[in-house]
Amino acid sequence: MIASPRRIVVAGGGTAGWMAAAAIARTMGRTAEVTLIESNAIGTIGVGESTIPPLVTYNRLLGIGEADFMRATQATFKLGILFDGWKDGSDRYFHSFGTTGQDHWSAGFQHFWMNGRERGHDAAYDAYCLELVAAMEGKFAHLPDERMNYAYQLDSSLYAQFLRRMAEGDGARRIEGKIARVALDGESGDVAALHLESGGVVEGDLFLDCTGFRALLIEQALHAGFDDWSHWLPCDSAIAVQTENVRPPVPYTRAMAHDAGWQWRIPLQHRTGNGIVYCSRYLDRDTALERLLGNVEGTVLTEPNNIRFVTGARRRQWHRNVVAIGLSGGFMEPLESTSIHLIQRAILRLIRMMPGGEISPRDVAEFNDQQFADMEQIRDFLILHYKATNRRDSPFWRQCAAMEVPESLAQKIALFRETGRVFRRNEELFAENSWVQVMLGQGIEPAAYHPIADKLRDEELAKFLATLRDNVARTVAGLPAHADYVAQYCGG
Ligand code: FAD
Repeated sequence: MIASPRRIVVAGGGTAGWMAAAAIARTMGRTAEVTLIESNAIGTIGVGESTIPPLVTYNRLLGIGEADFMRATQATFKLGILFDGWKDGSDRYFHSFGTTGQDHWSAGFQHFWMNGRERGHDAAYDAYCLELVAAMEGKFAHLPDERMNYAYQLDSSLYAQFLRRMAEGDGARRIEGKIARVALDGESGDVAALHLESGGVVEGDLFLDCTGFRALLIEQALHAGFDDWSHWLPCDSAIAVQTENVRPPVPYTRAMAHDAGWQWRIPLQHRTGNGIVYCSRYLDRDTALERLLGNVEGTVLTEPNNIRFVTGARRRQWHRNVVAIGLSGGFMEPLESTSIHLIQRAILRLIRMMPGGEISPRDVAEFNDQQFADMEQIRDFLILHYKATNRRDSPFWRQCAAMEVPESLAQKIALFRETGRVFRRNEELFAENSWVQVMLGQGIEPAAYHPIADKLRDEELAKFLATLRDNVARTVAGLPAHADYVAQYCGG
């Protein structure tokens, strides 16, 4: 005999709602009764197509077959992001998912590379990273020992349908309808039930707010509070359109800076996702749309999707018996494709802290601390892209360059600038190599390197660097074209 199953109600059926319903139904089995309510009339945000490597692990945890998943979502592989024009307007650099070179326990590879430059080895830092070189040559394959670190670029609406099939297959129930009212328990103040426009009432023990920017439960009903970060991440608007593919899809997302924000390009198997992200203080919507349409390739397939947002985080991500998952918990920037990751983190965290009986305030506090810390660390990494720039060509970039940044980030930038060192703190999402690639790419030149790099004699250093470069070049030479590999992998 088990106690009666916990009634988990998921409000909203976007990426967040269906990722949550699918994961909980599969993991918790008969111990949870999952009901998802979504409204076709309201619809979903319709963007969110570029991901980062932990999604590979998430799929494995849930037993999702990769080829099935990629076929169903028209996904491509992603090895990183190509940033155009972020440092001075005409530059480009790549933030890859791989490691670069080989670290020593005392000092990251960047120290040896910088030392090598002084000794006449002028190969770019990029040449030492397998994922980066493969991406730039448009190549991909799964390698033994998971030597190639990757993520996916996927169609968000197909992804929600895929997860829905999976969740319903595992027993989750879906209700189509609009939530008209959130009813609170008079005594506890918890959410007791969701009242639908149709007259239906859905009661539950635990409610997941996946209603997107509306934050219907966590904010409108429970007033969990919001920390506004728009003084650090000033973009507040986006327009998205989909276009036909005009070339085989490449295994990376592009983030092209413009004078009041940036533009994404995400190649999928069947089409390309495009969007312009901008600060409405410096660019109006018509000009933004014109700029976007002037910089897409191929025929435009969809009407422009206009989106407004405020960057920031819900102060309490879990409050009473409501957990915010997805955009209801906050939103930063699609710049490093971190939103779907935060959804995944919240879901896995919740499953780890799933209440057996009463909700423990300790669980709630722990969840909130962990989730908020993740968001703050990602926030700092994103601010870095705006702050560390030589661009002064527009009021937007001048504002970014002049802004005060959080002390945690100021320390990281100053440390790297003075010593070339970066430290990953508390298992933060972006590891040392991500910080080094972006800091170098954005134009931060360290003044020094670790003295241990001097220990290698000239011929030892030359051999060390040449071996690493040759390994990368040889491996990439043997890889198939990404598009061919995807076609074969998903077709087979
Ligand atoms: P939504 O998709 O908005 O879903 C909300 C759901 O709630 C819908 O089903 C809606 O019908 C339902 N709902 C709302 N109110 C009611 C009601 N009253 N009654 C019933 N149902 C209701 N993330 C990434 O990881 N990578 C990216 O590249 C990326 N790009 C982005 C670009 C932009 C411009 C933006 C704004 C976001 C981007 N994101 C990205 C974030 C990503 O889109 C979201 O994290 C993801 O789609 C999850 O959204 P959601 O499910 O929380 O909200």
